[in-house]
Amino acid sequence: MSIIVQKFGGTSVATAEKIRNAASRAIAAKKAGHQVVVVVSARGKKTDELVDLATEITGTPSPREMDVLLSTGEQETIALMAMAIHTLGEKAVSLTGPQIGIMTDEASTKARIRQIKTGRIHDLLDAGNIIVAAGFQGHDQIGNITTLGRGGSDTTATALAAVLNASLCEIYTDVEGVFTTDPRIVAEARQVHQISYDEMLELASLGAGVMHSRSIEFAKKYRVPLRVRPSFNEGSGTLISLQPLDPTPVVTGVALVKNELRVSLYNVPDRPGVMSLIFEKMAARKIPIDLVVQDIAEGGTAEISFTVPKDDFAEAVTAAEEAVEILGQGKVRHGTQLAKVSIVGSGMQTHTGVAAQLFQTLASHGINVLMISTGDIKISVLIDADRALDAVKAIHNDFGLDKLEIPKPHVGESLKGVSVETHPLDEKREREVVLRLANMEDIVVSDVIVDTTQARVTIKNLVDKAGIAANLFSVVAEGGVMVDMIVQNVSQKGRTNITFTIPANDLEKCLKLVKNAVEMDGEVTLTHDAEIAKISVAGIGLRSHTGVGEKMFRTLSDHDINILLVGASEMRMTAVINKSQANAAEKALCEMFLGPEI
Ligand code: ASP
Ligand code: MG
Repeated sequence: MSIIVQKFGGTSVATAEKIRNAASRAIAAKKAGHQVVVVVSARGKKTDELVDLATEITGTPSPREMDVLLSTGEQETIALMAMAIHTLGEKAVSLTGPQIGIMTDEASTKARIRQIKTGRIHDLLDAGNIIVAAGFQGHDQIGNITTLGRGGSDTTATALAAVLNASLCEIYTDVEGVFTTDPRIVAEARQVHQISYDEMLELASLGAGVMHSRSIEFAKKYRVPLRVRPSFNEGSGTLISLQPLDPTPVVTGVALVKNELRVSLYNVPDRPGVMSLIFEKMAARKIPIDLVVQDIAEGGTAEISFTVPKDDFAEAVTAAEEAVEILGQGKVRHGTQLAKVSIVGSGMQTHTGVAAQLFQTLASHGINVLMISTGDIKISVLIDADRALDAVKAIHNDFGLDKLEIPKPHVGESLKGVSVETHPLDEKREREVVLRLANMEDIVVSDVIVDTTQARVTIKNLVDKAGIAANLFSVVAEGGVMVDMIVQNVSQKGRTNITFTIPANDLEKCLKLVKNAVEMDGEVTLTHDAEIAKISVAGIGLRSHTGVGEKMFRTLSDHDINILLVGASEMRMTAVINKSQANAAEKALCEMFLGPEI
């Protein structure tokens, strides 16, 4: 018999009436012939209330006790839900995380799932019960209650669906599904009926906020189809699976993170080990680094910038200062009131001119781009927070996301769709790695990819104003050159640097285009390097695992390999290095991540 997991978020179980509603959904699924596992969150704002209550008692609550406290929210819901199912005439048993046997690591308040026992659940299901499981919680090896981090019930649901081999995991929530952007910001946002795991991962971690991104990592790892759907009506919501929408739009969604904080390290030495040290310092504090950018160095020094979540900001600055102290040189600066806007879409892999169109849209609204970072299926820019809403509206409109037809980029109409690796990751290898994981949430690194076909172009000291990136990349795109990685670091003294990579064969052509595109005043310099290699570590959910960057950069540093540029996305952590070191880097990273046998 097939198993269905249904997860109900806080708003969907806020009142007795809503609990009864959810209960009848579970019963309907059972009557349709499935075995049903219901996973619930704490009711309404319960978790927030408990957090507030704790802060009234102490500013520094013990993480262990926080977990004991917060887990009660879900415990309340499971009992009520089981009772509701009983009154509707079906059998149900409530189970807390520890009762199920959801074993986690010891990281109180941000625990990760190691293993889940399924014996008791199967027995109860076979005896005709609906299982009502508490989301967001588990226990560590010695029996302490742990929680999975805010929003963690999605992760519980997906993880249960994975171990139970469920045919579907339904996430019931207070929205109709996944939208092209937040409908509260753009009224014309439209619902996306189908989206790929990768797109959703980028959108979730990029701030679309519909689901906990760890739960999507889980779903991708174990190939659990997810359906996000409304609890308040019969809408069918959005299916999240391996497949993107067909035909695949170039851009599927626009995500916004309103409150980004930037940490920059200036004037640090440009030598192997610097990136490694910074990532190590952040990983030690479990701070996920986002939007990381390193510039091509000048006069032996490097500049590194990255953004971190608001809650981790103070710690991140301290950690950066420690790093500078150890390096014996450098300065830490930071920026606040920033927003990160990203466009995401599988179709980007086969279209040129997408970046150019994004920059043009921003430029035409006078929005200055402070930092740029690109991945396989996303482009992110950092801008001033007060222009964030304008930016999202403009992009949504300009990319035609409000229309029903599939949007196409309108920059460089003449450009051919150049097909790059549409399925860059080796499916089979990814499966093998997942099946061998000791712990369910362990990092999955399934590939090390080296690309020696690219060349780097760097333009330094550009006057930093709205429109420079737009102009530059439009000209390059119109010239038919496919830009791969784009990196822009924050400006200093009103001047900014932009670096990007292109196919080495197009280098001459590209340099000509660039010279026409930018005004080469006395200060602007243009440099290039065809002797580079792009090396990436690919896998699932790399960004939420602070350890991947750390390991990658430590390995490169141990082999005395200097890093010229970095980029990160959910699927890859990429470094640009010297071509002469490509083989050594590949060998070292394969040993580090893939082990001898694969
Ligand atoms: N109740 C927890 C929270 O509010 C977990 C969840 O809702 O997923 O963060
Ligand atoms: Mg919640």
